Amino acid sequence: MEGVVFDIRHYAVHDGPGIRTTVFFKGCPLRCRWCHNPEGFETGPVSVVRERSVAGRLMPITDVIGRSYTPEEVVEEVLKSRIFFDESGGGVSFSGGEPLMQPGFAGACMDLLKKEGIHIALDTSGYASRTVFDLIAGKSDLVLFDLKHYDSAVHQEHTGVPLEPVLENLHSPVFGRVGLIARIPLIPGFNLAPDTLRKMAEILLESPVVQEVDLLPYHNIATHKYERLGIDYRLKEVKVPAKEEVEMAAGIFREMGFPVKIGG
Ligand code: SF4
Repeated sequence: MEGVVFDIRHYAVHDGPGIRTTVFFKGCPLRCRWCHNPEGFETGPVSVVRERSVAGRLMPITDVIGRSYTPEEVVEEVLKSRIFFDESGGGVSFSGGEPLMQPGFAGACMDLLKKEGIHIALDTSGYASRTVFDLIAGKSDLVLFDLKHYDSAVHQEHTGVPLEPVLENLHSPVFGRVGLIARIPLIPGFNLAPDTLRKMAEILLESPVVQEVDLLPYHNIATHKYERLGIDYRLKEVKVPAKEEVEMAAGIFREMGFPVKIGG
């Protein structure tokens, strides 16, 4: 069995507790307008041409983003950082893209990592069939679950998919046994408004096992990735949220009783 991964990054500190190795899976069913990993959109490897100066002349160079791995190869790479996991309470995080797009491969990697006693976090949009979600989230120790909006029509317009399957998976029976941290991207013009955030907090209150809310303020550092991939970046002109706006958002979730972290 093989799956497609576009990066395996060691020493990550924003994708779960401790020091982690993050495995970035190719493929995502969503097209969030603010996505900072557009190289993960398509399921297979993609070729990107760039110009490089060679002996004073600009030459086209083709980079391929994404390659096939066996689960054993992923585990071998992840375990290179094992000493840091042990010392920091870290582990591996599955991110992307959307790991639930490759459930057989993700599940096989998780089974091997479990045998090694590695803590597993799943960073997910929550958009998958209930069967796939329960199976793969159920193999994790912690799910970092994105909630992007409360209104399905707005969600559909800005991410390309409806909200209902996400909400259904937020109530998966695996939670309680598996930890749950909600992650909320703060996107100006989409959800960064008090009423919207309050309604999102109400949704999270319906799930009694949310341990923490992580707020992820919008940033535009992925602009160059869109240019390289030839994808129109519609949020180019959007400004990063001011400190006061982020504090306003944090205050709303704190008032509703959630521990809040800014950043992942
Ligand atoms: S769910 Fe995540 S990876 Fe997929 S498009 Fe949205 S932000 Fe990007």
